[in-house]
Parts: sequence; structure tokens; C-alpha cells
Amino acid sequence: MIQLEKLHKYFGQHHVLKGIDLTVQQGKVVAILGPSGSGKSTLLRSINFLEPATSGIIEVQGKRVDVEAASKAEIQALRISTGMVFQQYNLFKNLTVLQNVMIGLTDVKKVNPKEARETSISILEKVGLQDRLHHYPSHLSGGQQQRVGIARALALKPEVLLFDEPTSSLDPELVNEVLMVIQQVAKEGNTMLIVTHELQFAREIADQIVFMEDGRIVETGTAEQIFTNPVQERTRQFVSKAL
Ligand code: ATP
Ligand code: MG
Repeated sequence: MIQLEKLHKYFGQHHVLKGIDLTVQQGKVVAILGPSGSGKSTLLRSINFLEPATSGIIEVQGKRVDVEAASKAEIQALRISTGMVFQQYNLFKNLTVLQNVMIGLTDVKKVNPKEARETSISILEKVGLQDRLHHYPSHLSGGQQQRVGIARALALKPEVLLFDEPTSSLDPELVNEVLMVIQQVAKEGNTMLIVTHELQFAREIADQIVFMEDGRIVETGTAEQIFTNPVQERTRQFVSKAL
């Protein structure tokens, strides 16, 4: 479970998150929608302190952290409980597919190489990359690279998974293979927070939709509520573009 309370973020004078309160229940999938610049990435990155928030509370799996008083150990614990999948994959270009997935296990979790290798291979099979283990990222399609990114996050068995526009860098014909993998990961009962511009996908996969604008949550509800009967006019305008 993720719980955010009164989360604020300033970049200098620029107030980018203006008091975000959000709860994601165990095993649920929450999609965050909203226009460019509304603070979606900043919100996601603040959860694992990739971009530390200015104030507020972040709780992941019962570990409650006041961002203004977070210790190094608390930040480290939050990072271990969260797995992030990035728009730009962020793979190590000089490592093979298998090494990219193994490295978190051997270096962060101190798993022995044999076990790390076995775990990584089985996860790479799950995302359909069993025949690409020894390829380098530059020899993969964007969709394959992103599936490595997902496998790398899954390998560490994080308590929550954070996806920041996982398909936005992909050519349209490669989007579906990645969305299908994400859907499969969701079905396995993982707690997930997904920032996406794929409104139809959000509608299908999310238990809850959050619509953000200008650093605030404008509206939240089930996919059905948000897409067919939004309360706020801004939400209505935004989702109507998708239909
Ligand atoms: P997009 O849909 O385009 O990805 P977003 O909703 O993810 O947008 P953010 O990237 O969170 O938006 O940005 C929110 C605001 O914070 C923007 O005005 C952006 O310019 C600003 N911002 C983001 N990162 C930084 C940074 N490192 N330094 C200064 N300002 C930043
Ligand atoms: Mg973003």
C-alpha cells in the first residue's frame, strides 16, 4: 500500500506539487492522468526520493516517512520497496539483457550470482525475452528494451511498482507488447502506480484513476466514473479527447 499525505514540491519558487493526498491499496492499480507539466512525473519520482519532495508524508507498506526528516536509512528502505520503470528505459548499454536484470539482485540485494541468474532468467522468460538474454540493449527494439526495464524492476520484488509513461518512447506498433506485459504484471496482484497517456489502456487496467492538473489532484474515481461521468469539467474535457 502507498499513502501520500499533503505532499508538496517546490523547484525553487515553482510550486509543482500542491498538497497531494493519495492512497493506493494493496494489489490495486492506479493510473495517473493529466496534461503535460501537471506534476505526474514529479509525484512518482518523489515517492522513491529520486526527486525528494519538499514536505509531506510518504508511506509505503507501513514504513512511514516524513520527507523533511527522512534519514538515509529510511530513504534507502523506500527505494528498496519501490521499483521504477522509466519512459527512456535507462538500461546499462554496456551490459547484456541478463546482466541488466541481474545487477540489481547481486549489487543491491546481495543475492549470490547463481541464484540471481536463475531468478533473472525466469523473469525474462515471463516478459518473453528468453531468446535475448545475451543481447545488448542497442540490438533490441524499443519494446524489447522496455520489457527488460520491466523485468529489472520485477526482479527486485518491490512492494510497489511505479511506471512513468512506459510506452511514450515507443513506435506505435511496439506499444501493445509492452502494455500486455504491464497488464500481466497487474493481474499478478502487484500494487502499481502508472502515469500514462494511453487513456484506453488506463481505462482497462486501472482500479482507480487520478486526474491531476497544476500540481493538484482534480478528481479521482473508478475508470467508469472518470470516463463516463466525471464530476469536474476539466476531467470531462481531458478524457473526452480519448473517446
Ligand atoms: P509530462 O506529461 O510532460 O511528462 P508531468 O506531468 O510529468 O509532464 P513534471 O515533469 O512532473 O510534469 O513537471 C511538473 C512541473 O515541474 C513542470 O512545470 C516542470 O517544468 C517542472 N519541473 C520538473 N522537473 C524539474 C526540475 N528538475 N527542475 C525544475 N523544474 C522542474
Ligand atoms: Mg512526466
